[in-house]
Amino acid sequence: MRYISTRGQSAPQAFCDILLGGLAPDGGLYLPESYPQVTRADLDAWRQLSYADLAYEILARFITDIPADDLKSLVARTYTADVYCHLRNGGDAAQITPLTKLEDGLYTQELSNGPTLAFKDMAMQLLGNLFEYVLDKRGESINILGATSGDTGSAAEYAMRGKHNVKVFMLSPDGKMSAFQRAQMYSLTDANIFNIAVRGMFDDAQDIVKAVSNDAAFKKQYKIGAVNSINWARVAAQIVYYFQGYFLATASNDEEVSFTVPSGNFGNICAGHIARMMGLPIKHLVLATNENDVLDEFFRTGVYRPRTSVETSVTSSPSMDISKASNFERFVFDLVGRDPVIIRELWSKVDKGEAFDLSTTVYWKNKPKFGFISGRSTHVDRINTIRFAQGRYNVMLDTHTADGLKVALENRQPGQTMIVLETAQPAKFEETIREALGSEPVRPASLQGIENLPQHVVVMDPDLAAIKAFVAEHA
Ligand SMILES: *Cc1c(COP(=O)(O)O)cnc(C)c1O
Repeated sequence: MRYISTRGQSAPQAFCDILLGGLAPDGGLYLPESYPQVTRADLDAWRQLSYADLAYEILARFITDIPADDLKSLVARTYTADVYCHLRNGGDAAQITPLTKLEDGLYTQELSNGPTLAFKDMAMQLLGNLFEYVLDKRGESINILGATSGDTGSAAEYAMRGKHNVKVFMLSPDGKMSAFQRAQMYSLTDANIFNIAVRGMFDDAQDIVKAVSNDAAFKKQYKIGAVNSINWARVAAQIVYYFQGYFLATASNDEEVSFTVPSGNFGNICAGHIARMMGLPIKHLVLATNENDVLDEFFRTGVYRPRTSVETSVTSSPSMDISKASNFERFVFDLVGRDPVIIRELWSKVDKGEAFDLSTTVYWKNKPKFGFISGRSTHVDRINTIRFAQGRYNVMLDTHTADGLKVALENRQPGQTMIVLETAQPAKFEETIREALGSEPVRPASLQGIENLPQHVVVMDPDLAAIKAFVAEHA
């Protein structure tokens, strides 16, 4: 299996060669040359498998340059019940991503039982093991530099902690994350994890990471890498739980299932799109946004209008606050018949901060073939949905999953099986839970009191030279 760029001007690459990088050299995103197709016989055989065995079967179709035995043991180490152990709803930890039944035909799928209580662990844990494997093989090392507003940074740190040949430098906006999120990241004691709280906003931290990535000499000298959401391996890892959810919600492979996905950078739902392209019987992919509705607008109107970060509002489902969706180019590539010339034309506008409009093109007529529908949710909807789910189903939802359930209920057809992906646990967003329910969110026992642990973090100004010097000293 080789990987091509959506912009069509980079040479095809093997999986391990794109693993440690970000964008393709031509500025595009990598995608497989073609999507592996699953047959009815595959589905019948896979229905019986454990999560780890299912993950191996699926990933082996995309990763053909790691020997089968090595990949199998790496995947088996990644998806174990003791890593995804933070269950709240009495599910079966051995299933890794169990369903919680809300009512007949309506489920949430728990993707947030991993170490940091958000779905990003599902992919990041695999990435940690893949990085270590490939770096060991090649005798190389990497210094990961990232900026986080919460979920990505903690998932990256818990995935990379203690790994050989990997160091993590994670910038976060000083004082802007929840006490729980700060405690999660800053309480780590691993020697290869460096937390830098930047006096400023998330965008200030992000600008520093961008400036370092644009400094080719520094990047090369200090082997700077990233683990951002456009990383292909992250998308690939996420395909697995769509299959798992499908098998758990159905009795036979004749049935269809729809998924609702609380979305930001389009990484999670992109994996659903690929599962569907592979032949998994998914009826609809329902994309849910919060007030930052750039993607809902596209799926309703055909107009993609990236916002400026000033226009992007700060909401109570912060991991969905985006001004443009970094993985969206992958879907549009398929929508326009995989024509890189069209992608280059469309993204020359996006890169200038302009909108594009597909509504009058032939491609828009193909849209129904891809199964996407969409909706949006606001703060009031989110609060009401958290109350509704608690009252009706006795299930406590986090704010992002509540956005998902709100949109799912609006779009679900009678008799249709619908799975809402649970992207985080309510314990991460205590303030909004208190506002909705007047009570404290449930927190897994092992994470009680983490705010009281000693914290390891340096606070710095958003000063590029100073932060580069810190990285240089510790890399
Ligand atoms: C990252 C995140 C999302 C958005 O996922 P994308 O892959 O960026 O679309 C939604 N909810 C939570 C809790 C997240 O951490």
